[in-house]
Amino acid sequence: MTRATTVLCLSGHDPGGGAGLQADIETLAAHRVHALGVITALTVQDSRNVRRVIATDPALLDEQLDVLLADMQPAAVKLGLLGSIAQLPVIVRHLARLALPVVCDPVLRAGGGTDLVATDFPAALRAQLLPQVTVLTPNASEARRLVQGAAGDLDACAAALLADGCTRVLITGGDERDAAVINRCYGAGLPVRISDWPRLPETFHGAGCTLAASIAARLALGDGPDAAIDAGQRWTQGALARAVAVGGGRRIPGRFLE
Ligand code: PLP
Repeated sequence: MTRATTVLCLSGHDPGGGAGLQADIETLAAHRVHALGVITALTVQDSRNVRRVIATDPALLDEQLDVLLADMQPAAVKLGLLGSIAQLPVIVRHLARLALPVVCDPVLRAGGGTDLVATDFPAALRAQLLPQVTVLTPNASEARRLVQGAAGDLDACAAALLADGCTRVLITGGDERDAAVINRCYGAGLPVRISDWPRLPETFHGAGCTLAASIAARLALGDGPDAAIDAGQRWTQGALARAVAVGGGRRIPGRFLE
């Protein structure tokens, strides 16, 4: 019997399908990887902005993970929007037991501007979750919000996040003003690896989710962190080049139109 390669996704639900768990499922399916989908939060949103986040009860999350993981053996984990600080100890406990590669997209604010987490969430995420994370994928503004006091310097932000315990930090530059999108990949004691991507004329919804999920797919298929990060960026750039409109706001990555 052929057993599917699976990735456990803990993500929010975007009813418009651009971001969150649907982005994960589509990205993983495009890599021929099956998603195990645990919803951390429901949301009220359209293609422009998020209006409300409703966190899943941590006890329900725990029960779902207990039952799922007693039966299924994922090859990697992808963390997206987390609903509350109270979910963190539950997630950390399961990650510690699983000992798998983990990609964490530290979702803090929607592209449309709404804050998606409480003000003390960044500090809790750093203290509790980062020791379990293989690849952290903040955009530049998320990196600066996670590391206050780095005076906005991205190298200093990455150094602090690596010191918290993650293995690689990929800081994406889609939200910066440079003519190209400049992504920086950091590992402790390693030279920074910088890659430039053409800045596309549109704005996107769900690009970060797509990038983190494609890196998780490659890790599940056996790549090491650097190969997975490189392949994930290439795949996401292709999906952004094929982006489609599903509403009147930002476009969503074309994840299944190859
Ligand atoms: N909704 C959910 C469930 C998400 O996971 C995210 C981002 O990860 C967003 C909305 C916001 O996405 P974006 O900033 O790409 O618009």
